[in-house]
Amino acid sequence: MAFDKNDRRPNKRGRKKVCAFCVEKVEAIDYKDTAKLSRYTSDRAKILPRRVTGTCAYHQRELTTAIKRARQIALLPYTAD
Ligand SMILES: [Zn+2]
Repeated sequence: MAFDKNDRRPNKRGRKKVCAFCVEKVEAIDYKDTAKLSRYTSDRAKILPRRVTGTCAYHQRELTTAIKRARQIALLPYTAD
């Protein structure tokens, strides 16, 4: 077969992702840091899931709270367009 849709990722999972916040030893995620927060939202302004970003459970919780807080004070959008 020349093309197999199940063959898009050659080595199954690739390199194991590590939580960016753990690497930086971040304890509390700053909800005012929109530049950082927006990296964890999709183009539709949705919060990206852990499986995409590789964020650990603890930091994903912190991140979600921070993003929701930022939305509430209009630093981040709830939805795109
Ligand atoms: Zn982490």
